[in-house]
Amino acid sequence: MNVSEIRKDFPVLSQTLYNKPLIYLDNAATTQKPIQVFEAVEEVYKKYNANIHRGIHYLSELCTTKHEDTRQYIADYINAASSNEIVFTRGTTESINLVANGFAETIINKGDEIIVTEMEHHSNFVPWQMLCKKKNATFVVLEIEEDGSISIEKLKCLITEKTKLIALTHVSNVLGTINPVKEVTKIAHQQEIPVLVDAAQSIQHMKVDVKDMDCDFMAFSGHKLYGPTGIGVLYAKEKWLEKFPPYQYGGEMIQNVSIEKTTFNKLPFKFEAGTPNYIGAIGMGAALKYIEKTGIDDIVKYEKQVYDYAVEKLSTIDNIQIYGTSKERISVISFNIEGLHPYDIGTLIDKNGVAVRTGNHCAEPLVHHYGINGTTRASFGLYNTKQEADMLVKSIIKASGILMNN
Ligand code: PMP
Repeated sequence: MNVSEIRKDFPVLSQTLYNKPLIYLDNAATTQKPIQVFEAVEEVYKKYNANIHRGIHYLSELCTTKHEDTRQYIADYINAASSNEIVFTRGTTESINLVANGFAETIINKGDEIIVTEMEHHSNFVPWQMLCKKKNATFVVLEIEEDGSISIEKLKCLITEKTKLIALTHVSNVLGTINPVKEVTKIAHQQEIPVLVDAAQSIQHMKVDVKDMDCDFMAFSGHKLYGPTGIGVLYAKEKWLEKFPPYQYGGEMIQNVSIEKTTFNKLPFKFEAGTPNYIGAIGMGAALKYIEKTGIDDIVKYEKQVYDYAVEKLSTIDNIQIYGTSKERISVISFNIEGLHPYDIGTLIDKNGVAVRTGNHCAEPLVHHYGINGTTRASFGLYNTKQEADMLVKSIIKASGILMNN
């Protein structure tokens, strides 16, 4: 993988901040975008922008075709059985809320149980917590192990005949832990329990195959995979989408409307009320094509080298604690330096051009597990380098020196 060539595709990376080269290590929050995505978006606006699905004119038909081709491309990319299983949403959060709404309407009753893990992003925690509250169901949280992994044995102990869903993240946005989702679906399906996988932090870093994982639902966001904001995907097996009622009502999602009654459109349009974000969808398709062209196997290999290097170098810093030490980790490193506030570290290294995230990373139950309120988080993408990891370490050492002496 030629990273210096790749970096040329991402114009934002070549700037300086405070007279220092930008070192962008906040990829878990959002990624930068390659020119190929801008070009795809620009092409729609310049050449064939028109509202989709309803027009009979040339532009509308062309735009509809490009949009639906993107849906098919995404279905193929994740190895879905059909493009009917791909619902466009605003992002991971909306995808999960859509499923939670379906469960609320059709499946969950008083006394039922939903299992999540302690390492979930609030997006895959609060919707289930609220659903359980509303339905008098039980919200069950699988505690994590000290190394930031989950124990399959402990999960097995939590499953009962009342369990109606297991929702877990593929990769933790705080620890970088890769969860054994395939093993989870296997165990869950033995008892006919569906599994939802939050792939917000995995699809851009590894091969994700829904047939191989055998998950029932999977959610991800365009903006975390080098694509635009405001677009994401819910993958769901057709049997579930057939069962669920619409999530929102309006144009597009109907078949016929009369004063007496409304019938709904076929899949997946039943879940896409209103004018779809076709520009975003086409942009997200271009981002996935960029990943595919670069080669996911090469990305995995390259990112692992940079990640392992960064972990090794960070570990040499005095009084640093890195959270999450399980063997299967990628992209994300969360840490604290004893006696220093993550916010202070983040603010000072920003002055060196290093962009990281500080705080609880929308995963309060997880950070509380470690008895802390937050961490500093560096998260890597396909364009980051070992030299940037070195600069991160250097900046932290410098910042620590300043803060210790104050
Ligand atoms: N899940 C995980 C694991 C995440 O990292 C994030 C974003 N930080 C989300 C869900 C929510 O994604 P979005 O804000 O794009 O809906």
